[in-house]
Amino acid sequence: MPELHLYNTMSRQKMLFEPRDPGEVKLYCCGPTVYNYAHIGNLRTYVFEDLLRRVLEWNGYQVNHVMNITDVGHLTSDADEGEDKMLKGAKREKKTVWEIAEFYTHAFMHDMTALNLLEPHIKCKATDHIQEMIDQVKALEENGLTYTAKGNVYFDTTKFPDYGKLAQLDKQELQAGARIKVDKNKKNPHDFVLWFTKSKFGDQEMQWDSPWGKGFPGWHIECSAMSTRYLGSQIDIHCGGIDHIPVHHTNEIAQAEGATNIKPWVLYWMHGNFLVLGKDKKMAKSEENFLTLKVLADKGYDPLDYRYFCLQAHYRKELTFHWDAMDAAKTGLRRLREKVCALVPNGSPIGSPTGLQLEKFESAINDDLNMPQALSLAWELLDNPDISDADKLATIKKFDTILGLKLDEPITHAIPEEIQKLVTERDDARKEKNWKKSDKLRDKIEKAGFIVKDGPNGTEVMPK
Ligand SMILES: [Zn+2]
Repeated sequence: MPELHLYNTMSRQKMLFEPRDPGEVKLYCCGPTVYNYAHIGNLRTYVFEDLLRRVLEWNGYQVNHVMNITDVGHLTSDADEGEDKMLKGAKREKKTVWEIAEFYTHAFMHDMTALNLLEPHIKCKATDHIQEMIDQVKALEENGLTYTAKGNVYFDTTKFPDYGKLAQLDKQELQAGARIKVDKNKKNPHDFVLWFTKSKFGDQEMQWDSPWGKGFPGWHIECSAMSTRYLGSQIDIHCGGIDHIPVHHTNEIAQAEGATNIKPWVLYWMHGNFLVLGKDKKMAKSEENFLTLKVLADKGYDPLDYRYFCLQAHYRKELTFHWDAMDAAKTGLRRLREKVCALVPNGSPIGSPTGLQLEKFESAINDDLNMPQALSLAWELLDNPDISDADKLATIKKFDTILGLKLDEPITHAIPEEIQKLVTERDDARKEKNWKKSDKLRDKIEKAGFIVKDGPNGTEVMPK
């Protein structure tokens, strides 16, 4: 079996994967802030993490996968600047922050299922772990790594010599420093808040008692506190988007290692790259214009079309979103499914995975999750005339435990909302015997790329 190699952001190179305890992997993934729907750029990161989990399991590891849910005020910056995301969502929808958190947590889980993402073994809400966060801040205080200014507790980054190692801040100090807005209470530009009692948000609903007064935690503390709670003081892999490297993950390391004095907290740091909307424009939740799975569904794309789209790029490469590329992904997935559905095992009803194909596939996935190659091997397999249908079927099913595309499920056709409206209009026109209108509508639907049939229940459409 080819050994598993993964790219470690800490060392900036691909490394042989060896977990701390043989056969077991402790995996922590930063989860969503539940104040709005996840946009498809966020979801790309979760697809990458799902692929990682599946590859680890393929290699026989027992994975303990933990993901947090940020359901407490998370500022757009860590310097008590910007807006409180949860509060912003609550105001927008005239609901309490608790209602907002519940609604969007549910929506996120729905998206995870739709993308066929394996459920984390533990999903932990920040608001359920305030005590763990307070305990970690207390440990940092006891270790002399904090100071209090104007009611808030800060982490003193100058007391933690390794600060910024992950982001290589020593080399890029100015760049990263520029992103952090000035907070007059800070002793050093990279210091960050561990516990707020004084915030410009007077109407903050979520507050808890603490040794430093009633308040709420800084954003970064939840991940290091919950990871330690569920996975212990040292873990194998920590994942997130690349935007987490300079501040969030850098601060998580300072907190976890600063509190326990055990290093390294994380053996392998892995980060998924951005989805961009052309011209390096990052899709961000803070911009009002963002694409969600619901937007894609309204345009007729299945969530698995998006999963297929993500598989076509390596997780460390930036991926540019285009509707044309989504169309190509949709067609690609449909054709792949058609090929799998057409495999009728003749002779031997049950085949077995073919050794050579499996070996190639395994080399691809074990080479830092090379999914574009894995996907092309799936095509190659199905087009190979020398392999029996039964063996192809057995092999592709095995491949699909990684790809997660539900390749052996019957093909369904998602019809966009606007096409569905035209179909209803056409049915009404036909009932009124308005043939001219009904023909016009047929042309319109066909021009949009659908085949129109008159079935017993009215107009039937399917993609061309
Ligand atoms: Zn985190």
